[in-house]
Amino acid sequence: MKLNDSIQFVKGIGEARAKLFARLGIHTAEDLLFHLPRTIEDRSQTKPISDLIDGETVCVQGAVAGGIKAYRSRGRLSVTQATVSDGESIMKVIWFNAPYIAQTLKSGLEFTFFGKAVWRGQCFEMVNPVVEVCDGEGRKTGRILPVYPSTAGLSQTHIRSAAENILSTLTEAPRDILPASVIDENHFMPLFTALKNLHLPQSAQGFEAARERLAFEEFFVLQTGIHTLGEERKNFKAIPIKNVKCISDFAKALPFELTAAQKRVINEISADLLKDTPMNRLVQGDVGSGKTIVAAAAMYASAMSGYQSVLMAPTEILAMQHFKNLKSLFLSFGFETVLLSGGMTAAEKREALKKIKDGSAQIIVGTHALISDTVTFKNPALVITDEQHRFGVRQRTLLTEKGYGAHTLVMTATPIPRTLSLILYGDLDISIIDELPPGRKPIETYSVAEKMRSRVNEFIAKNIDEGRQAYIICPLIEESEALTAKSAVEYAEKLKKTAFKKYSVEVMHGKIKAAERKQIMDSFAKGDIDILVSTTVVEVGVDVPNATVMVIENAERFGLSQLHQLRGRIGRGKHRSYCIMFCESGKIAQERMKIMCKTNDGFKISEKDLELRGPGEFFGIRQHGLPELKVANLATDMDLLIRAKESVQNLLSEDPTLSKPDNKPLKEKVCQKFAEVGENGILN
Ligand code: ADP
Ligand code: MG
Repeated sequence: MKLNDSIQFVKGIGEARAKLFARLGIHTAEDLLFHLPRTIEDRSQTKPISDLIDGETVCVQGAVAGGIKAYRSRGRLSVTQATVSDGESIMKVIWFNAPYIAQTLKSGLEFTFFGKAVWRGQCFEMVNPVVEVCDGEGRKTGRILPVYPSTAGLSQTHIRSAAENILSTLTEAPRDILPASVIDENHFMPLFTALKNLHLPQSAQGFEAARERLAFEEFFVLQTGIHTLGEERKNFKAIPIKNVKCISDFAKALPFELTAAQKRVINEISADLLKDTPMNRLVQGDVGSGKTIVAAAAMYASAMSGYQSVLMAPTEILAMQHFKNLKSLFLSFGFETVLLSGGMTAAEKREALKKIKDGSAQIIVGTHALISDTVTFKNPALVITDEQHRFGVRQRTLLTEKGYGAHTLVMTATPIPRTLSLILYGDLDISIIDELPPGRKPIETYSVAEKMRSRVNEFIAKNIDEGRQAYIICPLIEESEALTAKSAVEYAEKLKKTAFKKYSVEVMHGKIKAAERKQIMDSFAKGDIDILVSTTVVEVGVDVPNATVMVIENAERFGLSQLHQLRGRIGRGKHRSYCIMFCESGKIAQERMKIMCKTNDGFKISEKDLELRGPGEFFGIRQHGLPELKVANLATDMDLLIRAKESVQNLLSEDPTLSKPDNKPLKEKVCQKFAEVGENGILN
């Protein structure tokens, strides 16, 4: 069999099953070889019954002694019972709802039983053990089995035997992507050996070593791709922003004292701005830590030095809000701020574009409309992107290219686990604002069930009567944003007629026109609206300190980091704030709710998020426009990631364009992986 052969040529795979494999993205023998098991189940240990330990999961070999009892319990469950003897001792085996087992057991042969042995006072018992004839060729028992990601209708056995078949009939070995030098340095086994160790694991250690090798390779490809993206930028020179001392005047003019963390980060940024190598810095700070003013300080230095600066936000609401705040702030210093966003009229856009081009605007705020071809800057020296996790890597570089290698600052409120930030940003410098402005009270958070509904409504009413405002966040509807918007509208209508008749209730969602959304947000900020029923469009950045209550409907549908982001909309003023999450039961959901109720610390929450999502659903990798990881685990493979990163740097310093023959397979792989996610042509 050849690597490129269709999966249908594999023994036992017909048309129907091939379709199931296709659902997993497996079309060829090679695809299946790289459909790797996530973990193993160790069924290798076999023990005599007399050596069993209560609660252990093992294999026992023996013959059926005495009769097989098959009956239906009162609950109409079919029960099959037998006694097994290994010649010395006996053990009981029971199956529920598996009447066919009786036929298998009748044969009088010797069997292997794999399951959990539980001591029942007189003898051991196994419930629903895996059973197979001991013919020396153990397929399901007596060995270590790989456990694959699968799909409905395709059993582990199907995948296992297909993989075994391919491995035993393959006449060519898959090509190694890692350059030989990298394999040597890391003492890696050859790729083919690794694949065998994964599909036919002989030991847990062998499996893990092979998994690490492939995880390393994944990280290696990913980081080579990202590094190459970053390389383009390094060729640019940035404009040094010479006047940073003036920031102290800026700080003095503020109505509050900057926190120590804000001052430290501003100092770190200032040191970068002075240089002609472009700043490449990530400012990471929990919601409400005051990132905007830090950005504004840098923009101020840029304006005072005679240059433009650009702030790009992921949503129109957020862009508008930044615009409003920065405009009044910079007006007092005599600088002009303009907004550029998709929702503006043609005439408004024209006017903004003109000011951006002729330099009459020093402070430029906008959405991704800023990346469009029609925008020409006069002399941008600083480019800031806010709430970075919403942008793809490619978008970020595009804006930087427009800024001709300007200094870049990235601000993120979602604390990105270190593994991910290393992957996403590579050699990006990181500043952390690890302190909230004084006087912030932690948000009290509760997870409640539906039966508390009327009490929660009373609680909202009481807070509004005290002069506060509330958000009600509508459930996410997976299939479509349109449906989510529709449900928000309907929900708001219902609330207006029922629980909150007395109050002013408005609805907000992504399908409302930008201008109208701005109006709604303005009147909410002014206090004209008591309750804002909204989809997650309020998730980022919106700042209404008088809103102190947030109710999140169907909180189980939101991820932890998203819940934390949402909750960050309250607790921004001097009043005590409350977050109430309605949640349907479910193990993961309960776990999430517990964490939310326990901590306000965004870093802890994001680490937990990563852990709970586990392998397979890697934290936003795809949202960032990066290829998916199949083997590597961001929560646990930190060491491998760092090793891969160093190794990539070494390799690229020797062969920056990957043109040596030994590096060609890697280059092809990187191009292919990044093309899959729309990052075409990065290596050319
Ligand atoms: P985020 O980091 O979430 O973007 P913002 O920049 O929106 O936070 O700041 C949140 C609020 O805190 C704003 O109203 C801002 O004016 C205020 N703020 C920022 N820094 C301070 C400070 N040092 N002292 C008091 N209030 C501050
Ligand atoms: Mg912000």
